[in-house]
Amino acid sequence: MTRKSLTETARLDVLAIGAHPDDVELGCGATLARIAAAGHTVGILHLTRGEAGTRGVPEEREAEACAAGDALGATAVEFLHCRDGGLRSGEPEEDALIARLRAWRPELVLGPSPRDRHPDHGRAHRLVAAATFYSGLARRGQGEPHRPAAVFSYMQHDPFEPRFVVDVSSFWESKLAALAEYRSQLHQEGDRERASRDEPPTKIASPEFRAAIEGRARHFGQMIGAEFGEPFWTPLPLAVADPMSLLPGGLR
Ligand SMILES: [Zn+2]
Repeated sequence: MTRKSLTETARLDVLAIGAHPDDVELGCGATLARIAAAGHTVGILHLTRGEAGTRGVPEEREAEACAAGDALGATAVEFLHCRDGGLRSGEPEEDALIARLRAWRPELVLGPSPRDRHPDHGRAHRLVAAATFYSGLARRGQGEPHRPAAVFSYMQHDPFEPRFVVDVSSFWESKLAALAEYRSQLHQEGDRERASRDEPPTKIASPEFRAAIEGRARHFGQMIGAEFGEPFWTPLPLAVADPMSLLPGGLR
């Protein structure tokens, strides 16, 4: 996938935002694949290019992110430049994010949770919360105001009590395909000899991290009677039109 500029990109139904390339794919990649497969338009916005990462260079990570977006069915993959490792979340960054929200006009935004091990994730949460609100104000900045109907947080390092879990059993392979594109960051199948190459070991590049991702998805999937699940949080209660739609489909 090549990066699509704002002028080339149509409206999005769903926009997933992450502090660093691979955050979105790890946190809600299978959910995005499920939404895209249902016929909705999906985009991914990385707030940085991961330039502070231990492995890989920004150009490499950008190419990986575009290929990963492709694997999930995203029609747009873009980057803001909020600085990795000390993510900036001031007024210029809010304005840049507001411009994207007003151009893409997503109804649903998926973003980082309020607190996480990596401080950039909490900062990114606050940036997303501010920009999605201010984007709806006519007197803030340029362009036609737009406020997404909902902003849900996906899970990264720190666990939270989910408000809902998406059954992603049929889209787990899509998530793995997206993660496989992040060759510079994440452990890949048959990677043993690569580990002894010149790049330094990192927590997320270990096979244990990979297994933990699957273990967590199986854990939350099991809670809703599914093989794999991705958990989400929102500070507000969810409106339900049909309580019967909440019944789990799997084992009781
Ligand atoms: Zn991150």
